[in-house]
Amino acid sequence: MFVAPEPPPVRSTCPYCGVGCGIVARADGTIAGDPDHPANAGRLCSKGSALAETLGDTSRLLYPSWRGQRIGWSEALDLIAGTFTDTIAQHGPDAVALYGSGQFLTEDYYVANKLMKGFIGTANIDTNSRLCMASSVAGHVRAFGEDVVPGCYDDIEAADLMVLVGSNAAWCHPVLFQRMMAAKAERGTRIIVIDPRRTASCDGADLHLALRPGSDVALFAGLLAHLAETEALASRFIEAHSSGFAATLAEAHQTAPSLDKIAALTDLPPEAILAFYAEFAATERVVTFYSQGVNQSSAGTDKVNAILNCHLATGRIGRPGMGPFSLTGQPNAMGGREVGGLANQLAAHMSFAEPADVDRVRRFWQAPRMAQRPGLKAVELFDAVLDGKVKALWILATNPAVSLPRSDRVRAALDACPFVVVSDCWPTDTTAHADLVLPAAGFAEKDGTVTNSERYISRQRAFKPPPGEARPDWWALCEVGRRMGFGEGFAYAHPAEIFREHAALSAFENDGARAFDLGGFAGLSLAEYERLEPTQWPVPKGARRGGRLFGDGRFMHKDSKARFVPTPWRGLAEAADADRPLSLNTGRQRDQWHTMTRTGLVARLAQHTSEPFLDIHPRDAEAAELVDGGLAQIGSRHGAAVMRVRLSEDQRRGEVFASMHWNDRFASTGPIDRLVGAHVDPVSGQPEFKATPVALQPRPILWQGLLLRRAEAAFAPDDTYWSRTAIDGGFAYALAGCAPLAATGDGPSPDWVASMLGTPARRDLVVYADPARGVFRYASFVEGVLDEGLLDEGLLDSCLFVARESASLPAPDLLARIFATPLAPAARTRLLSGRAGAGRSAGRTICACFGVGRDTLVETIAEEGLDSVAAIGKALRAGTNCGSCIPELKALLPAPA
Ligand code: SF4
Repeated sequence: MFVAPEPPPVRSTCPYCGVGCGIVARADGTIAGDPDHPANAGRLCSKGSALAETLGDTSRLLYPSWRGQRIGWSEALDLIAGTFTDTIAQHGPDAVALYGSGQFLTEDYYVANKLMKGFIGTANIDTNSRLCMASSVAGHVRAFGEDVVPGCYDDIEAADLMVLVGSNAAWCHPVLFQRMMAAKAERGTRIIVIDPRRTASCDGADLHLALRPGSDVALFAGLLAHLAETEALASRFIEAHSSGFAATLAEAHQTAPSLDKIAALTDLPPEAILAFYAEFAATERVVTFYSQGVNQSSAGTDKVNAILNCHLATGRIGRPGMGPFSLTGQPNAMGGREVGGLANQLAAHMSFAEPADVDRVRRFWQAPRMAQRPGLKAVELFDAVLDGKVKALWILATNPAVSLPRSDRVRAALDACPFVVVSDCWPTDTTAHADLVLPAAGFAEKDGTVTNSERYISRQRAFKPPPGEARPDWWALCEVGRRMGFGEGFAYAHPAEIFREHAALSAFENDGARAFDLGGFAGLSLAEYERLEPTQWPVPKGARRGGRLFGDGRFMHKDSKARFVPTPWRGLAEAADADRPLSLNTGRQRDQWHTMTRTGLVARLAQHTSEPFLDIHPRDAEAAELVDGGLAQIGSRHGAAVMRVRLSEDQRRGEVFASMHWNDRFASTGPIDRLVGAHVDPVSGQPEFKATPVALQPRPILWQGLLLRRAEAAFAPDDTYWSRTAIDGGFAYALAGCAPLAATGDGPSPDWVASMLGTPARRDLVVYADPARGVFRYASFVEGVLDEGLLDEGLLDSCLFVARESASLPAPDLLARIFATPLAPAARTRLLSGRAGAGRSAGRTICACFGVGRDTLVETIAEEGLDSVAAIGKALRAGTNCGSCIPELKALLPAPA
């Protein structure tokens, strides 16, 4: 018998964070870490480990649609080309705009940038990297003359001290964090975390500086002054390889004239500041990792330069185990920067500030209408849409109705815009405001390249066909270019041809003027592109150089010197006051990614943080009359939301924290960015996401509920709080009511119950009511019949539990456990009597890989006397796969005697 050989595994790249882990997709539908990829050597975090569970999704966008009606691709592309052409003819090129994404592959990014800046003639193309990395880009350009991350991940193993500033790497770059922990275990590397919150990254830290939000510039200006006072400067390096040191040091003395002043600005104990300064000064091999706590600030670029100044002043850059290291948030934010995806960039690390660069790109592209000046940055761009200056907008691979500050204003802008196109894989809060929706191919369905935080270019390879009529973004962009009459500029048949051109442009008239040089890839054949191994740039023609940059003291400014940049002190754009006394910080959760379009599909990723909690210090909660698990009305100058309260001693007093992920599709809370103001850094244009003044008020909870359904529920806007998570076979909704339930007689009205449960064609509804206790339970079965008060086996279609107190509700994990299988009569009896499911609740999931809950861990640790993470792993497997949960496992262990 002939047995067809199994297709070979496909090596590709994880589509989430900027670590850029390699993956191997096998024909049996599994996805594992690529043991040969330099970024991860086979490891994946909880999100990467669950990638295979996102592939069978049935909620994908399958066909182009115009105002809700299916249309063909040809008609859709003609609509875009025609509307763009007409708009440009009537209002000029600046009346059209593109808004893209760090989820783009480099090839998508390249053609989008070329179309807008070279052929349409406007630089009104910005991306969600503006919300993520723009301050690092601007800081690098100011200091180095080019947007370059000088170091490599190998510096982790070579460093003696790692400083994490505004970076919760344990949750946001988990595979790198595990590498940091391994280096610490192996060679005793010291770790200092600088972050207002005590995060999972503080696990293993030797020192945590919980500084006041926004005060990083003062801390690092003080460090620069300290390095000078203690003669820890690299004077010869400063002399030979830099400029601007004296003015920068003078400015640092202005900002940080004394330890007392630094302590006052940062709200840190003087001895802790001195301990950090002394350790930095005494350690040659020091890497400073920084991320959104630095970038997402109205002083983000100065924060970046304050860090870079300290590395330049000590000459600690570009050599093993030392240097500043910006950790990029998105999988291809770096690739976007390489093609000039931001509105103020030109392609291939060239600049609008240099007329020769503009002319060079024009000649290379043979561009008919080369943009001559920077375009609108993200916040300005959506303001211009609302003002009617931008009249046709194409959004690709991003969800600005959730992720941009003042998200209600963004939604209003989309509604006001005459022509909005959105390309995405799924329906989102943004597609809900689009005229034309295009189905995009997802990460598993398209070919191209991405660049990670350490400048490694990796292939993303398709390993399954796109569903329906989904198509790659580069194809749609090129089709529009052709239909606008730019055929020759967009005649690509394969992403390899785009990559070759991108590489050739990087080398065009370069001669060492730009570090970003992929000249060695300019002649890549299709077969070589298919085989391309992860490669670190620069890759000049005739050499495969990669490696660290600037170790020789040569930088990319015209004089080959680095520049110190004075960083004058300024506080937060909006300070808390008597009306809004708390400062709202926003950020990521461990197991979710961006606006949850993909991770929100996976049941085991939903259980670690199941609701959009508002974390608050217990004493602040007490002052605001809030309780753990209660609801709070949170309001800023820009918007309001109702959130579930979670007490946390990891918060500083006066500050609260909320997740960036949730949105209208997942919770009544909606996007937290509805509350965030649009104060941007004057250089980078990056908004301040981490310090919005807010006021809190308690909301009474009159009833609580738990709803499980096979189909998604639709909620009318009212006073019901709801939050949705994926479970095996359906969805679970946590409910809470701030207003009395619509009631008939002794219980909730049948109409309301029916609207919650949904109405399948054949249904047996079983009801349990205890009006005296305020407990009501409803179970709906799609098959099975009543039999002497009990039911034969049938599938639970939906169930609803309502009670005055949450203690009267079943544990969600027990209920979810019985959802996927037919129920025997005894199990139904337990369900209706309130003893749902069998066994005990595992509690909130801590280990997502093996589904181990907090209650199980606590009980097993106590019963078996476990005293180490290794012992937990042996007993329960928790922590033995991706390692993302290890900090939380450690926190559950008994304190050493
Ligand atoms: Fe993906 Fe996790 Fe690796 Fe980031 S650390 S690339 S999310 S597997």
